[in-house]
Amino acid sequence: MLSYQHAYHAGNFADVQKHLTLYAVAEYLLRKKTAITYVDTHAGRGLYPLNTKETQRLQEYREGIWPLWQARGQLTDPLLNSWLTTLGTAQPNASELTHYPGSPWWLSQPLREQDRLTLFELHPGEHEHLSAQSLSPQAQRIYGDGLAGLSGLVPVATPRLCVLIDPSYERKAEYLEVVDAVAYSLAKVRHAVLLVWYPLLPAGKHHSLLNGLRESGIRKIWRSELQRYTPNEQSHGMYGSGMLVINPPWGLDERLAAAMGHLTPLLGTDSDYRSEWLVGE
Ligand code: SAM
Repeated sequence: MLSYQHAYHAGNFADVQKHLTLYAVAEYLLRKKTAITYVDTHAGRGLYPLNTKETQRLQEYREGIWPLWQARGQLTDPLLNSWLTTLGTAQPNASELTHYPGSPWWLSQPLREQDRLTLFELHPGEHEHLSAQSLSPQAQRIYGDGLAGLSGLVPVATPRLCVLIDPSYERKAEYLEVVDAVAYSLAKVRHAVLLVWYPLLPAGKHHSLLNGLRESGIRKIWRSELQRYTPNEQSHGMYGSGMLVINPPWGLDERLAAAMGHLTPLLGTDSDYRSEWLVGE
């Protein structure tokens, strides 16, 4: 039984890190004309009006996208400015932040005629919301398991593949299932660019994901982590957010570090961003 609903968390600091990374990766991929298949294994609803009962309950966007949106116009980083301008196009009234778009929307934006997008969502209610979103005609929405669906799709018909894996990690086993799905996809498409999001929780469950990848023999795994605060024994809940990019485009690290350097102080004085190779070339 799936209980996680992203609407309770839409626009939080983890979404900012995840979607900015996704946006930056797509920008690099668009520099070449060859067709790309994008896959979003855990799509969610696609668009989140901020005034819904769910999103208003925790208002996590107030410590995520909100301070960043307020600061737009004073920011000098080109990636951040371009991302915020694109975010503006998701708003019915461009000067007011009323909606936060999810990964299906961010992946639908860069699609060219030659590109494809497949979105998987397993929660019936979330899939129904996703089906109602207006997305590019190249976007295919599938009600089903994302990791099994990805394995069934590879190898793809296009020369390039970019995958976002963003589970809710409601089951502990998901961390290792992600490792298997990543290894299987790379065995079929060696140069695929894969992005994996993971939560930083006091229990440290993400270490099984990181260790599993380290031990898998996969090379070129880059990771970044955005910490809201340093956890202690009393901490509970998500204190940070991590992103892995496997086969990252050259220059991604510097570009994101510059953008995050502007962004992180806006999230609070204890926020901290770091990146490094989990496994090098
Ligand atoms: N990627 C979305 C975004 O950035 O806007 C957020 C996704 S949310 C963290 C995780 C989603 O995965 C939820 O909507 C949940 O219903 C869905 N989900 C959970 N298990 C799944 C599975 N096995 N296959 C596909 N979707 C699943």
